[in-house]
Amino acid sequence: MAEEVDVVVIGLGPGGENAAGLLADAGLRVAAVEARLVGGECPYFACVPTKMMARAGDLVADARRAPELAADTTVRPDWTRVAARIRDEATDDWNDQAAADRLTGRGVQLVRGEGVITGKREVTVGDRVLRAERGILLNTGTAPLVPPIEGLAGTPFWTNREAVRAKTAPESLVVLGGGVVGVETAQVFARFGTRVTIIEGGPRLVGREEPEAGDLLGKVFEREGVDVRTGTRVERVAHDGAFTLGTTGGEITGERLLVATGRRPNLKGLGLGAVGLDENARALDVDGNMRAGDGLWAIGDITGKGAFTHVSMYQSAVAVRDILDRTGPPASYRAVPRVTFTDPEIGVVGLTEAEARDQNLPVRVGRTNLAQSTRGWIHGPGGDGFVKLVQDAEWGVLVGATVMGPMAGEILGALSVAVHAEVHVDTLSTMIYAYPTFHRAIETALADLYDD
Ligand SMILES: Cc1cc2nc3c(=O)[nH]c(=O)nc-3n(C[C@H](O)[C@H](O)[C@H](O)COP(=O)(O)OP(=O)(O)OC[C@H]3O[C@@H](n4cnc5c(N)ncnc54)[C@H](O)[C@@H]3O)c2cc1C
Repeated sequence: MAEEVDVVVIGLGPGGENAAGLLADAGLRVAAVEARLVGGECPYFACVPTKMMARAGDLVADARRAPELAADTTVRPDWTRVAARIRDEATDDWNDQAAADRLTGRGVQLVRGEGVITGKREVTVGDRVLRAERGILLNTGTAPLVPPIEGLAGTPFWTNREAVRAKTAPESLVVLGGGVVGVETAQVFARFGTRVTIIEGGPRLVGREEPEAGDLLGKVFEREGVDVRTGTRVERVAHDGAFTLGTTGGEITGERLLVATGRRPNLKGLGLGAVGLDENARALDVDGNMRAGDGLWAIGDITGKGAFTHVSMYQSAVAVRDILDRTGPPASYRAVPRVTFTDPEIGVVGLTEAEARDQNLPVRVGRTNLAQSTRGWIHGPGGDGFVKLVQDAEWGVLVGATVMGPMAGEILGALSVAVHAEVHVDTLSTMIYAYPTFHRAIETALADLYDD
């Protein structure tokens, strides 16, 4: 016999967990289906543990900079202390249970297992059939994408999930992929004494970002002893105690191999065919209310609108509002922020210069070098960075901005407001910027816009 509820949520990533609780708070009968851990990738294998690792790596780097600035310090970083701070399987179980208890305490019926759509407004989990009067909300997220490289399958390579579980820092690590996950992880391990090689097929690191960001990060990594091989493709992998990679630039070896070549959406096997959708799609098409079909909503990474926890949470609020038949503005992605937590950090909001030009916008660019600002000079070692602003010259508003430097993710806040609220650059230029801060460099970059 089918069990009747109002909404079935499949997948409890950050957005799904949030939505399930909010819908139950609103009095709906909610069944929430999760195959692994309540909360999804972010708290267990992604945002949170990787930023704990980065925080430890940053401290080590700052301590090493200390001799230049103050005392003569000997830094002997100890990875086991970092590993102890990051949750292991036992604490995962504890946190998963705590999150589950919080949801059930709000009236959500938690169903453990793989949810499969078996009809319109119908989900099957094992031998249970759930009928959702209002509909189904999908938040199934992504999994690491493993490229079909000869010899790779079956070797004990790491993805982000194993990297955050490492109990010791390996002697050497080869990182496949110079995107966000690759560069963040590479820098952390390098700072803990691992010999790191990054292999990237494109011409620079973090290829999606402004070229200035990839170029500067490449220089910082070179200074820190990370071997960056751009324009290099891996053709074969072999494992015999250690990894040997046959690449277009010769052989590369390492004790460990991290595969950080992107993510694939968890859409296969979800039963999308039962509602006329394609499970082989790279993302599910959603409208401004997060609807993917009749009685079907989708949020998070599977919508292809930005694979970030804050996007998943933002979309969950929009979907909840629509499911509850409340009105509000449609989802907008014009001012989505993102941060790469390397040192220096890379904070981006809206469009890069190339993206704005691709949209045929009348682009004007303003730049300034952070190290040459008063605060950058005071900061000394580790103060590399820049501010780059992208303006729609006819409209007079910023359509994008990148800040690279210490705490760039925090400085980005001001620019996110500017892009989101469509603040005219004349207004931004008459603001008072505190001295001597990093964010004061925004004023210099604005002046450069006028010089363009
Ligand atoms: C290494 C790394 C670092 C990151 N760092 C950041 C960061 O600093 N900041 C940031 O904003 N983002 C970061 N991200 C991205 C972030 O983790 C995701 O965007 C975030 O988790 C939101 O994903 P989601 O809501 O789509 O679902 P996910 O978190 O992917 O969760 C989906 C859930 O659905 C479950 N599921 C899947 N299929 C089924 C099924 N059929 N039945 C039942 N359950 C199912 C899965 O078990 C999983 O628990 C990082 C990602 C990685 C890999």
